[in-house]
Amino acid sequence: MGVSNEILQKYAELIVRTGVNVQPGQVVQLTVSVEQHAFAALVMEECYKAGAKKVNVDWTYDVQSRLNYLYAEQETLARVLPWEEAKMKQVVEDLPCRIYIASEDPDAMNGVDPQKLSSVMQARATILKPYRNAIDGKHQWVIAAYPSVKWARKCFPDCADEEAVSRLWDAILKTVRVQADNNPVAEWKKHTDFIENKAAWLNAQGFTSLRYHSANGTDFTVNLIPEARWEGAGVTNPLNGAFYIPNMPTEEIFTSPVAGQCEGTLVAVKPLSWNSQLIEDFSITFKDGKAVSCRAGKGQELLERMIHMDEGACMLGEVALVPKESPVNQCGFLFYETLFDENACCHCALGMGFKEVLPGGDDLTMEQAKEKGINDSIIHVDFMVGADDLSIDGVRPDGSTEAIFRNGTWA
Ligand code: ZN
Repeated sequence: MGVSNEILQKYAELIVRTGVNVQPGQVVQLTVSVEQHAFAALVMEECYKAGAKKVNVDWTYDVQSRLNYLYAEQETLARVLPWEEAKMKQVVEDLPCRIYIASEDPDAMNGVDPQKLSSVMQARATILKPYRNAIDGKHQWVIAAYPSVKWARKCFPDCADEEAVSRLWDAILKTVRVQADNNPVAEWKKHTDFIENKAAWLNAQGFTSLRYHSANGTDFTVNLIPEARWEGAGVTNPLNGAFYIPNMPTEEIFTSPVAGQCEGTLVAVKPLSWNSQLIEDFSITFKDGKAVSCRAGKGQELLERMIHMDEGACMLGEVALVPKESPVNQCGFLFYETLFDENACCHCALGMGFKEVLPGGDDLTMEQAKEKGINDSIIHVDFMVGADDLSIDGVRPDGSTEAIFRNGTWA
């Protein structure tokens, strides 16, 4: 619908070459909806052209997930079967490049008991976590999007199918910098250079805390881990030196703060879609680094459940800087998909932090990373705090401060 083969080809190439950056001889694991089978074929072929040894496809179908959640017992769904664990062991061994094409219907789980959904997710994530930890920072991966009809209709409920999909395509292609007459690879080079320069500047400042302020009630201070780095856009796979871009689009520069060291209130500026449900008009107040209260105009119970998913769910794992000029923000609508929505403006995330931001972090166990201040949790949920008037100041150990953000953008 609406997009030429040429554009699709350009996009598939961008995902494989610039995104995950498949190297000759690597195994690729592609996760994609059955509805996007034609695009999956383009991506597969591009992987082989890049020298992939084998491309394995995990087909998903959100209707299947929904039916399972509606009809199967919680205990049945929560079980990780021996073959699933064997497969994860293989992934730990192969360290395949992983490509994930997001196209889910944001309402796929409507009608499913949210308690059941989060309990199943919690049980499975706990069992699979050691495998996730074992591949963390040791393989290339990318998440990119492809519009499905249901997703597009969620974003543009007043449009007919075809128009909704075409509008979502326009937005996606704008944010991933793929146009009929441009060179996306060159655009991405420029974009990643900009982000890396900003990250290098932040790293040179040695800020030990950040202060947030906005007229909407945000008044917040968070401590940073002195040796943690600010990162953005690209990552280098330490095992083979391949530079890859895990998120397409990406606009953020992020780090992990000290778990358990923040104070004050963060007011969200956009709704949050979690487990297919919406939390709106909310704020979270922290004391001694932990979320001690939250208020939501809609989804209060859901927000509370999220914060209590496990011990680390009430603490921050990420702070990220995104200027309000971000093309995602310019699109002006909620994508109902974190990949996009978290790239709209400044955000923080509750839950799991990134041990990669520590020097030698890839080789640290989660226990070692925790000792250095990185938060551990089975969740990682981003919420947007980048108000148009947001100011962020960096504070150095000697107490001197420097403006980082003014009026929602780089100072
Ligand atoms: Zn982020």
